[in-house]
Amino acid sequence: MRKYVIMGVQGSGKGTQAALLASDLELVQIIVGDIFRWHVQQHTKLGAQVRRTMAAGQLVGDDLVESVVRDRLQQHDWNYGFVIDGFPRNRRQAEFFLESYDIDGVIHLDLPDSEVRRRVLARRLCANCGMDYNLIDDRPTHEGRCDVCGGELVIREDDTEEALATRLREYHEKTNPVLDLFRRKEYVVNVDARPDKITVQQMIRHRLSLPEYMEGKND
Ligand SMILES: [Zn+2]
Repeated sequence: MRKYVIMGVQGSGKGTQAALLASDLELVQIIVGDIFRWHVQQHTKLGAQVRRTMAAGQLVGDDLVESVVRDRLQQHDWNYGFVIDGFPRNRRQAEFFLESYDIDGVIHLDLPDSEVRRRVLARRLCANCGMDYNLIDDRPTHEGRCDVCGGELVIREDDTEEALATRLREYHEKTNPVLDLFRRKEYVVNVDARPDKITVQQMIRHRLSLPEYMEGKND
């Protein structure tokens, strides 16, 4: 049984790394944000609660987040373990998690703010079909035009310098206490998130003493 937490700022490739890790180790990838989105879309009781909270401009409270995580982990479909993404987001949630589950490691994808800025500000979105692009490594064939539908590529509303600076500051304020807590328990493996995704994945596995990732094995 392998139970991991994955942490990293936006643009650090957290979702990609969690998916690669989960693929051949048969871990269940738990994305807490997706669970919330699902509840909202399915109009569950919990979804209504989340919707009300967000409509009031507030953050979803720790109790609600913890109960969602608890419910998800109680499904016990994770025979070989899990990798959880998007939780814990603050110190209190981290304490709850440590009390409830014995985790095997916390993967921290380390990406300097300057690189986050470079990656995030290179993102583009097709205004017509919603396809994502990235001017660093996923450029459209014709500048400013979507390869799929020819629509105009635009910058996301919340991908401005100012909005990103705010998000980064909030991220560090919230995450540093969580990382400190996990570090004191010696759970954290710090991995440089700058190299390509396969290199990063192999580093994660090396640090966690896991078998090497075999490219294409599960494709
Ligand atoms: Zn398009």
